[in-house]
Amino acid sequence: MQALVLERKGELAIRDIDLPLDLGENDVRIRIHTVGVCGSDVHYYTHGAIGPYVLKAPMVLGHEAAGTVTAVGAGVTNLKVGDRVCMEPGVPNLSSRASKLGIYNVDPDVSFWATPPIHGVLTPETVHPAAFTYKLPESVSFAEGAMVEPFAIGMQAAARARISPGDVAIVIGCGPIGIMVALAALAGGCSRVFISDFSAPKLAIAAQYAGITPVNIGERRLADVIAAETEGWGADIVFEASGSPKAYAGIFDLVRPGGALVMVGLPVEPVTFDVAGAISKEVRVETVFRYANIFDRALQLIASGKVDLKPLITGTYDFKDSIAAFERAASGDPSDVKLQILMQG
Ligand SMILES: [Zn+2]
Repeated sequence: MQALVLERKGELAIRDIDLPLDLGENDVRIRIHTVGVCGSDVHYYTHGAIGPYVLKAPMVLGHEAAGTVTAVGAGVTNLKVGDRVCMEPGVPNLSSRASKLGIYNVDPDVSFWATPPIHGVLTPETVHPAAFTYKLPESVSFAEGAMVEPFAIGMQAAARARISPGDVAIVIGCGPIGIMVALAALAGGCSRVFISDFSAPKLAIAAQYAGITPVNIGERRLADVIAAETEGWGADIVFEASGSPKAYAGIFDLVRPGGALVMVGLPVEPVTFDVAGAISKEVRVETVFRYANIFDRALQLIASGKVDLKPLITGTYDFKDSIAAFERAASGDPSDVKLQILMQG
């Protein structure tokens, strides 16, 4: 079957590759329609590794996908042939302790699309457990369905934050995940979200949304803006979504006493962290790794119209041009948020 294969760091090919398509009793077969290009796909392409995950053999990229069910296993009751669906790319071991606790996102045994050595889904067809395959509401397009995966990270961050209605939040970092976090925080009840970055084009994209206030930290100190806007009290929640070690300098100056810091961005190196600053305000510190039990809720929010992810899709490519899509994503144009690849027209 044709697929977009990362042969080794820096080398992509569209070529035939053998992928298992055996349909188990609880699986569905899916004709893939749309696949989003994720920062992690691009990072494997440009660096060949993310932390402990190192590319050692050719791997199919892509994990943000939507498509149509073409066959169902004998034991599947929640889906039928013809259903439009999106898929959760991480499949845990359902017998694991983490799964039994409901925190299957941190199951050490999880297999996750396009994380070495597991193949992704930039290919016309795949087989997936029905339990991790979600029917798209009629009003949700394939393009939006393929946005559920990155949005789920924002939703997980909002859930971990334990937002109270009316909370004021800050999101540090206006990349695709930062924007997803900001939208999820608003949907979760925040009254205002300040989002900070150095990049004016990135901030302009986030500022299209009502409730999001951009702060260009090349021009203004974030701490000054927050102090002025909250009468010196601070934000209820600070989401760190840049992954930059520098973001942690003075980060607790932004949080109100008793507020929360939610860490979403993954720094590549250990970070220095002002423990006394956190303790003196009794700041609650949370971390976010992927998501668990979020896809249904994300789809409901999108279907309700409360969250519109369509403006974030800034380019769409046919599969035959998918290498060009990766070149564009790797070039890091700040006015791009999400590029998507169509497996079929
Ligand atoms: Zn992703």
